[in-house]
Amino acid sequence: MRIGTMLGDVLRSLFSRTATRQYPVERAQPPTQLRGKLYYDPEQCTGCSLCVEDCPAYAIELITIDKTKKQFALRYHVDRCTFCGQCVESCRFKCIQLASNEWELASLDKAAFTNLYQRAENDASNVEKVAATDVETPDKE
Ligand code: SF4
Ligand code: SF4
Repeated sequence: MRIGTMLGDVLRSLFSRTATRQYPVERAQPPTQLRGKLYYDPEQCTGCSLCVEDCPAYAIELITIDKTKKQFALRYHVDRCTFCGQCVESCRFKCIQLASNEWELASLDKAAFTNLYQRAENDASNVEKVAATDVETPDKE
């Protein structure tokens, strides 16, 4: 490239609008269809396990707390999730949503990649105890 042409490009760049954003200071509004972090609503869950069975990444585990009272919890592994949206499609009761505004999910803390969703009245330590003995794991062999 000739020096004159290069100089012209440099000057044009200096006075034109930047094509990129100064992330993370400047943020774009994510599209509403963006598939971000998974959220689970235990109130409507029937424990059918379709979401677990259909997840290709083994990213969700269903914990049965009390089957007769339809009480379930869900453990979600963010670091395994491919955000494919299959679990949302599979759930007939709209218990699972992927938040479009939560997509900055990187963390230096490994614990941040495991989320336990449960009813407010449930004790988390009790749920973990139940999970140790009874977790729906998909059979994908
Ligand atoms: S979005 Fe896809 S990979 Fe993530 S939990 Fe749902 S089914 Fe699994
Ligand atoms: S598919 Fe829906 S109703 Fe069935 S276990 Fe998953 S979240 Fe619950």
